[in-house]
Amino acid sequence: MTQEEFSIKCPACEQGIIVISKTMYDLPDKDKMLILKFECDKCSFFKNDIIPLTTNMDSGVMTLEITNEADLKSKIYRSPMGKLEIPELELEVEPGPRADFYYTNVEGILLRFENAVSIYRNNLEEDDQQIVEIEKLQNDLKKAMKGKLKFTLIITDTQGGSYIIPQDKSKYTFEKLMKNDLE
Ligand SMILES: [Zn+2]
Repeated sequence: MTQEEFSIKCPACEQGIIVISKTMYDLPDKDKMLILKFECDKCSFFKNDIIPLTTNMDSGVMTLEITNEADLKSKIYRSPMGKLEIPELELEVEPGPRADFYYTNVEGILLRFENAVSIYRNNLEEDDQQIVEIEKLQNDLKKAMKGKLKFTLIITDTQGGSYIIPQDKSKYTFEKLMKNDLE
């Protein structure tokens, strides 16, 4: 991993200085990925950009086991063609251009999901049968965010381009999809 930093004036508040950090990751399969992080020192301007520097993107199923807090920092890049699932939490993000789930870490995915679930919960009538189930899910999510619930994050990408950069490589598996599996 190599990293360099440079700065520009903030386009949002025009007062702060944005520090841009450029990080080059070497992926396990010898590919490279460039991550640009923009962060203003005065306002809340923050942006992550990711540029996969590779032409060799295998399609396949990526599986990451999350069993502790450190695993939550594993980085996730879901391409628009990738499907993201956490079966234990009934979370599913279908392929499609949902920028929220492009580039983040496991924690970021849980946070966005928790937010969506609590909005859903708050819109239910108080006598709704679903409340018990939803509150159990909210509890599980809280545990998951503290690293106290074991779960599995799966990305199925039939086109290639999605990545998981695990904190702990022993918890990550990649299964290449054969042409036949796609039909
Ligand atoms: Zn700013």
